[in-house]
Amino acid sequence: RIVYVNGAFVPEEDAKISVFDRGFLFADGVYEVSSVLDGKLVDNAGHMVRLHRSLNELDMAAPCSDEEIEAAQIKLIQDNHVVEGLVYLQVTRGAADRDFAYPKNVKPTLVMFTQSKPLLNDPTADNGISVVTLPDLRWGRRDIKTVGLLYPCMAKMEAKAKGANDAWLMDDNGFITEGTSNNAYIVTKDGIIVTRQLSNDILHGITRKAVLTIAKKANLKIEERPFTPAEVQNAQEAFFTSASAFVMPVVKIDGQDIANGKPGRITQQLREMYIKIAQNG
Ligand code: PLP
Repeated sequence: RIVYVNGAFVPEEDAKISVFDRGFLFADGVYEVSSVLDGKLVDNAGHMVRLHRSLNELDMAAPCSDEEIEAAQIKLIQDNHVVEGLVYLQVTRGAADRDFAYPKNVKPTLVMFTQSKPLLNDPTADNGISVVTLPDLRWGRRDIKTVGLLYPCMAKMEAKAKGANDAWLMDDNGFITEGTSNNAYIVTKDGIIVTRQLSNDILHGITRKAVLTIAKKANLKIEERPFTPAEVQNAQEAFFTSASAFVMPVVKIDGQDIANGKPGRITQQLREMYIKIAQNG
C-alpha cells in the first residue's frame, strides 16, 4: 500500500514520523475519515470544513491547501486501486522538543492512507448491530476530532467482551451522548427521529448533518435532544450514523431487543436515501 507523508507518496514500510511528533507524544493532532464509493470521495467538502474547525479550536496550522489535500487523497485512491473503502487523514502539530506548551512555528505533520473494504454490501446492515451502554469517560471537547481515542477503544473492547458490537456512551445524567465512533438515534413509537443536539458533548458528524437534511426533506419529524437508554428500549427503531457505516440499524441495547429486534423501516429508508445521494456525489 502507498501512503502519504508530508508531501511524499511512499510504500507504507518506508514511511517515517519523528519520535518527537506531538501527535505521538500528546495526541496533539486531529483527523478525518472520508468514505470512497465507486472510487470517488463522499462529502469530502464537509470533512474539510470540519478539519479546519478542529485545527482552529486547537490553534493548529493547516499543513497545506484543501486542494492539495484532496489531490493527494485522490492520488492515493488511484494508486491503491480503492473502489470502496476509506481515506484516513491526520494532521498533528508537528515535531518539537517535548514540552506541554505548544511550540511556535513548527511544521505540521500530514499523513494519509487508504483502507479498501466493502461498504455497500455490508451484511451487518441487513441484520443490525447490538450495543451496550457505558459511562462516557472521554474529555469535555468531543466536538474536536482529535486522535485521543483511548477511551473509545476501551469502551469498544468492553462492549465486545459483553458480546455486543459497540457501546453507546452515557453522560453523568444518564443520557446517551453518542457511540464510540458514531452518532446515535432512536425513532420513537410516534415516528419521531431523536438525536442529541450539537454541543461540546458530541462530534458533529458529517453523516449526521446529511441524514438530518434528508429526513427533513422526506418530511420526517426530528427532535434534537438528549435521550436515555430506557427510551431506546421503548423505541420503535434505533440506528447510528458515521462516514464508514452510513446509516446502521441498532437492534439490541443492553441485551434487550428494540421493538421486534429487526432493522426498522425508517432506518432502512434513510440508509437507502443516504447511499443514493452519496453515490451520485
Ligand atoms: N462520533 C464520533 C465520536 C466519531 O468518532 C464519529 C466518526 O468517526 C462520528 C460521531 C460520526 O461522524 P461522521 O459522520 O463525520 O463520520
